[in-house]
Amino acid sequence: MESMKQELESSTTLSEDPAGQIAHSRSERRAKPRTWEIPPAPAPAPHLDDYKSIVGEPVVEELRFLARGLAKKTLKMVNSTAVGGGVAEMLNRLVPLLAELDVTTHWDVITGGNDFFEVTKAFHNALHGAPYELTREAQEIFLTYNEQNRQRMQFNEDIVVIHDPQPAAMIGARKDTSAQWVWRCHIDLSNPHPQVWGFLRPFIEQYNAAIFSSQTFARQLPIPQYLFYPCIDPLSEKNKKLDDSFVQKVCDEFGIDRSRPIVTQVSRFDRLKDPVGVVQAFKLARKYADCQLVLAGGGASDDPEGAIVLKEVKEAVGNDPDVIILDLPPWCALEINALQSASTIVVQKSLREGFGLTVTEALWKGKPTIGGAVGGIPNQIIHKLTGMLVHSIEGCAYQIRYLLTHPEFATQLGRNGREHVKENFLMTTNVRRWLLLLQILLRGGKA
Ligand code: UDP
Repeated sequence: MESMKQELESSTTLSEDPAGQIAHSRSERRAKPRTWEIPPAPAPAPHLDDYKSIVGEPVVEELRFLARGLAKKTLKMVNSTAVGGGVAEMLNRLVPLLAELDVTTHWDVITGGNDFFEVTKAFHNALHGAPYELTREAQEIFLTYNEQNRQRMQFNEDIVVIHDPQPAAMIGARKDTSAQWVWRCHIDLSNPHPQVWGFLRPFIEQYNAAIFSSQTFARQLPIPQYLFYPCIDPLSEKNKKLDDSFVQKVCDEFGIDRSRPIVTQVSRFDRLKDPVGVVQAFKLARKYADCQLVLAGGGASDDPEGAIVLKEVKEAVGNDPDVIILDLPPWCALEINALQSASTIVVQKSLREGFGLTVTEALWKGKPTIGGAVGGIPNQIIHKLTGMLVHSIEGCAYQIRYLLTHPEFATQLGRNGREHVKENFLMTTNVRRWLLLLQILLRGGKA
């Protein structure tokens, strides 16, 4: 007994934890977690045949069949960053898979100074509904960098796909090409800032087509619009099947007790992800059903607002030993995977959301999932069929309690959720959509 007490007293405290992964005082009673000071080397990219074991041979053969008519066609993707963020992550997988299908795909990244990225960040927030004063100077900065990038790039491909607003004005290069130009919008345009949208809209209207991530994100436009859901890669570190021994090791390191139900939310510490609401819902639900809460997030240490939200979360938690808060570095895909895999229930109680890839990840792992009925979450969670949609803290608490006390129903939800992802939100489905769209565009837009 005495030796155990000494061990507990001598184990990691928050101040000794160099990476600060465990943000809660409960870490004082845990073994010291591994630290990830250096990001691990990326895993090698999978090949098409590797997906057969997941989606079945016919799906992969169908991709080969659809690509036949596209042999020797070329495609250019243009976006604003090669690393970080969902778009770059998706392109990193999509481009080699298209190349394997003989659709030569060039990926160019625009460059710009801080002034450009400040303007485009402000545009991004404004298009999500934030207040903003669009100045003439901001417009000039935007147009000048778009023009510089236009001059720097060659456009010899059959199809050019411009991702998001940052490079949208590069459509100016279209007149010198015979290519079909597509605007792929990954952001929620359902309630855009009128001035910023009014400025961008004339550029968007010059494209041959636009692609949105959800029906609700689209705008009225005089060009054809297509719906492409975002996707996850089932072979990535975040989503591949893990050995249970690894899941156990991660839980041990973070002091998570797998013999008791685990409710998890994985999200940046951002008010719109409502982590404080999750804590409140958990506290209500736990009065009726034993469980622990894991809140895993990242970026709070280098994002001043994230640090404030993390502080608010800790205040809401108080000294509750059943809540484990983890502030993880960005390269912890395997650990996030392990936490999701270990969970009994996954929650994404967002108040506003883009598509909500954490929901896709949880459904893919067959987890009964509770999500706020916002953004792209209702595309993924069909209430009572592939998960549970909620509109309030009390609603979330009720569903946590319900799922914990109805395990057979919860298991069935998880199974349905995984099928829904397999059908609609995997990388292979995304490749299929691209191949079909390329066929349509190369026939002059006639399906
Ligand atoms: N994520 C992560 N570490 C964290 C928090 C989130 O790797 O600490 C990942 C999460 O697994 C998901 C993505 O970041 O893949 C978040 O995407 P989502 O669409 O859910 O939300 P966003 O942060 O883009 O608003």
